[in-house]
Order: sequence, then structure tokens, then C-alpha cells
Amino acid sequence: MSEQLLWSSHYYLSAMDTCASNQPDRLRNFEAVCKRARVRMTFQRMAVFQEVAGNDEHPDAEAVYLSVRRQIPTISLDTVYRTLWLLKSLGLISTVGAPREKTRFDGNPAEHHHFLCTVCGRIQDMQPQGSYTLEIPESVKDVGRVERARIEFQGTCLECLKLKGDGDVSHGSTS
Ligand SMILES: [Zn+2]
Ligand SMILES: [Zn+2]
Repeated sequence: MSEQLLWSSHYYLSAMDTCASNQPDRLRNFEAVCKRARVRMTFQRMAVFQEVAGNDEHPDAEAVYLSVRRQIPTISLDTVYRTLWLLKSLGLISTVGAPREKTRFDGNPAEHHHFLCTVCGRIQDMQPQGSYTLEIPESVKDVGRVERARIEFQGTCLECLKLKGDGDVSHGSTS
């Protein structure tokens, strides 16, 4: 028998319990979580968090660094890395994809799926619709304990389809 995993907030870290997707709410959550965890809310940490929370592109550490550096020229890539992993340990952001060299960070605390474009590599958020349940196979127990499940759809994004001149876009545009 397999366990049913509902897309409900208790499978998310408590810090991610807000379903809001706008930035002021994410920032409020950031403040609350830092307070609860007794982590000092420094300007650098806030800047790094804001960069991820206000960015739907699921940036990697280098992209975050390049952008934050415009505000804080003295920040180092190392600091950005450490801050990102701190934010992740606080449950404020999550990672996407295989945690190897190019880890990408996600500032969207709401339950969502991903669409990965295999042409341009862009990862876009998709909202789950209705009460979505995902079957968690028994065999997952052989590898660990599930804390969250996310679906990654792979394919070609609308922009890449347009570039390819592929008329097969779902909303029926022709060319
Ligand atoms: Zn694409
Ligand atoms: Zn996402």
C-alpha cells in the first residue's frame, strides 16, 4: 500500500507555511522566521533573500551574486553561497534539481510544480490545480523520508516553441 501525499502545507517546512506568492508577504515571513530562529537579519541576508524571493527564474548562486553585487559591491560569492544555504536551512527558500554544482534556488513558498524547458533550461513555476494527490511509492522508505514532493514537467517552453516557429502552442496561435 502506498502513502497518499496531499499537497497540503504540513509537508512543507513550517517556515514555508504561507501560501502567499507576493513579495511583501515573503519578506514578512523572512522577518518572522529569522526572529524565531534567532538569526540576525542583516542587510546582506535580506538582499540575498529578496533576490531569490523576487525572482521567478530560480537563479543559481552566481546569478544571485551578480545581481546582489549591484546593491552591495563588497559582497563575495562565498558570502552569497553561505547565505543561500542558511536561508535554505531556515526553510525560507528551497533548491531545485540535483544538488550538484549548479544548485538553483526557489523563493516561492507556495506549493507549486515546475516546468523545465529542456531547450533553454528555464524553470517556471506552475500552480497546482484542485486537490492534487501524489502517490508516494512504498519503496521510498528504502531511500529516506519524504518531506515534500514536487512535480517537474519537462518540455519546450512557449518562448522556445515560438523561436522554433512551432505552431503547436496550446492556445492555438498560428504562423
Ligand atoms: Zn525554453
Ligand atoms: Zn519554483
